[in-house]
Amino acid sequence: MPETVRTRFAPTPSGPLHVGHLLAALQARRFADACSGSCLLRIEDIDVTRTRSREWVELMFEDLAWLELRFDGEVMVQSERFGVYAEALDRLRNRGLLYPCFCTRSEIKAQIAEMGRAPHSSLGYLYPGTCRNLPPDVVEERLARGDAHAWRINMERVQELIGCPEWEDMQRGIQRCVPVEYGDVVLARKEMPASYHLAVVVDDAAQGITHVTRGEDLFEATHIHRALQAVLGLPVPLYNHHGLLKDNAGKRLAKRDGARSLASLRAAGYSPQQVRDSLEAALSRGGIWLI
Ligand code: GLU
Repeated sequence: MPETVRTRFAPTPSGPLHVGHLLAALQARRFADACSGSCLLRIEDIDVTRTRSREWVELMFEDLAWLELRFDGEVMVQSERFGVYAEALDRLRNRGLLYPCFCTRSEIKAQIAEMGRAPHSSLGYLYPGTCRNLPPDVVEERLARGDAHAWRINMERVQELIGCPEWEDMQRGIQRCVPVEYGDVVLARKEMPASYHLAVVVDDAAQGITHVTRGEDLFEATHIHRALQAVLGLPVPLYNHHGLLKDNAGKRLAKRDGARSLASLRAAGYSPQQVRDSLEAALSRGGIWLI
């Protein structure tokens, strides 16, 4: 493995860190250490409608310090990078790969219901494409009028341009991304000027990430990320999607389950070592978390 291995831990401050975050952070840290590489921290706080982000970020730093988890280099903060994402969006827009979508959520729901068996991917229903080919004068008029809209990527056009690029999952091998299978995902909207998909590929490239270790719940999303890397001309890291923690009924631990937050374990008197040992024990049981 080259010495330049770089991984990252990229939590979204939507609540307190929980044991699933600890697993993701340790996987990234350990992989980097095993390769004498570095592990960076990135705060994925692009959702500016979340009012308590700052509070969760502060608590996150306390949790990380309590667990003595350290990261290398500068911390990247996505809410400080909207200009960079806007540039990437402009590049896509100038190449005719984006279009404004004026549909509301309930309109999309109704369109899908009307279609009967609407196409969907493992990430949910695909946008039916209502605004994909609106006449340019209608688009212009609606934009000039200030109608609320999201910017979607035209995956048919993307696929014409880049075909079906490959990416490598370190556990499952070579994967083939078929862009149209993921539909015209939203890359920006007024209250969220960059979507997770856009910000994550721009930032993995900006931080020079060579190996993305993250939970297997993001496996499907990686296809979208691969398509975006291809159209933006960004390097393609290797991916390692790890298993998720479950409760003893085999159900995935939910973020909203406060009892498994690191802060609540700390408050209940567990030491950092006990929490780490519990995580190791869970991994040896196939991911079943018991405390
Ligand atoms: N921010 C995402 C989360 O907290 C992780 C994104 C990623 O690892 O790519 O679930």
